[in-house]
Amino acid sequence: MFDVIIAGCGPTGAMLAAELRLHDVRVLVLEKETEPASFVRIVGLHVRTLELMAMRGLLDRILPHGRQRPAGGFFAAIPKPAPKGLDSAYAYLLGIPQPVIERLLEERAVDLGAQVRRGCAVAGFEQDDEGVTVELADGERLRSRYLVGCDGARSTVRKLLGVGFPGEPSRTDTLMGEMRVGVPQGEIAAKVTEISETHQRFWLRPFGEGVYSVVVPAAGVSDRAEPPTLEDFKHQLRTIAGTDFGVHSPRWLSRFGDATRLAERYRVGRVLLAGDAAHIHPPIGGQGLNLGVQDAFNLGWKLAAQIRGWAPEKLLDTYQAERHPVAEDVLDNTRAQMELTSTEPGPQAVRRLLTELMDLDEVNRHLIEKITAIGIRYDFGQGPDLLGRRLRDIDVKQGHLYGLLHRGRGLLLDRTERLTVGDWSDRVDYLADPTAVLDVPCVLLRPDGHVAWIGDDQRDLDGHLSRWFGKPAN
Ligand SMILES: Cc1cc2nc3c(=O)[nH]c(=O)nc-3n(C[C@H](O)[C@H](O)[C@H](O)COP(=O)(O)OP(=O)(O)OC[C@H]3O[C@@H](n4cnc5c(N)ncnc54)[C@H](O)[C@@H]3O)c2cc1C
Repeated sequence: MFDVIIAGCGPTGAMLAAELRLHDVRVLVLEKETEPASFVRIVGLHVRTLELMAMRGLLDRILPHGRQRPAGGFFAAIPKPAPKGLDSAYAYLLGIPQPVIERLLEERAVDLGAQVRRGCAVAGFEQDDEGVTVELADGERLRSRYLVGCDGARSTVRKLLGVGFPGEPSRTDTLMGEMRVGVPQGEIAAKVTEISETHQRFWLRPFGEGVYSVVVPAAGVSDRAEPPTLEDFKHQLRTIAGTDFGVHSPRWLSRFGDATRLAERYRVGRVLLAGDAAHIHPPIGGQGLNLGVQDAFNLGWKLAAQIRGWAPEKLLDTYQAERHPVAEDVLDNTRAQMELTSTEPGPQAVRRLLTELMDLDEVNRHLIEKITAIGIRYDFGQGPDLLGRRLRDIDVKQGHLYGLLHRGRGLLLDRTERLTVGDWSDRVDYLADPTAVLDVPCVLLRPDGHVAWIGDDQRDLDGHLSRWFGKPAN
């Protein structure tokens, strides 16, 4: 009997497993592939994901494998720098191969005690009042208290659950791959700049060691059912640029669409959905992996609390209440970005207008806070603007605030030195620091770093400790 079975060991599943293990939850991750993915897609970790990694002490392990790039210029690839003074200690993008981030997250989950079984596909399940019986493709049956489907866009768990996945099918296909080029970098840069003015679904970007990431529209080449070939890329490059830049030696080639879909529910009884299993959207802006990892971060401590027996009654339901609107917003912004990449005159005119508007600091800041997910504010009721937002990493007397969140517990940061977490001390840490750079007296942080309470009154605090952390231990 496990506490939680997770279907899928992609970034979402691995992150969730690690978060659950911080609370001693017995976790089994079932992954249908026998080997980790070798598909070297470079993804970008945006500011909020880097913050999550810092909060769990993982960032130092990840940084050496990636390349730091400026945080700006991602909204519809409109080349505007990030606004000055972006509100984060980690205000950059980290380009990193997806298999590397998956390996690091899986290693961490295993180090923390999660079991990962590869070559095991979830094929069915039944739930009852006490738990879930999960059936594997080979007929083996396993039992757990909860099941989480982190099994990607074609999620078996979502389909078996009968949860609707409404949205729009793919209309525009794009080819993407990584390959070497046969002409000098200077020659490429000039040509790419010229073409990018009118073709947004085209790029040739260096990723180091002579390898380029290439994106071209798929329209008119090859059969959708077949994997794309190097010849397809060459043909499209010649059509758009008049040259194929001598591309050769592909590391991988793929095709992706712009389907946009969102699961109607994230939870049915003891079965939950997270990551691509719950939402899909075009990869423009590079948000999918980030969104999934952030789902896992939101769900992990809540599900752990449920299993440990201290979760307040509706805590687990706040997962959907908080994360569904966030995914809705990402679906919307990626839809908008795709429109802005069209070569039709109308969308091109809107793009020019938005490019002008992005010179206004507030507009640029709003869009980048969306893409990087640092602008998210959960609805925790009425209160100061900081309530429901994540708190940035700040200096505290023990070093960095995020350094105090490695164990995935709540934290009361008390500048008044008068308050206490009392009988909640088994799940909430306490730091008295009158010098902390905050313009409020005290904040209560949830394990995911979101501000759950602001104030200086002990009785009010106790009410909020109860709301988020359940009945006290004694
Ligand atoms: C071209 C492209 C570029 C992208 N670039 C970015 C980017 O820059 N930034 C970004 O954030 N995102 C990017 N994404 C999106 C990102 O790759 C996905 O959002 C991310 O992989 C989702 O993670 P996941 O763990 O939810 O699902 P997945 O990565 O799909 O993992 C699901 C796992 O479940 C396993 N599985 C499936 N079915 C079963 C089953 N029945 N039983 C057991 N296991 C099962 C699969 O084998 C897989 O390992 C990009 C996507 C594409 C296509």
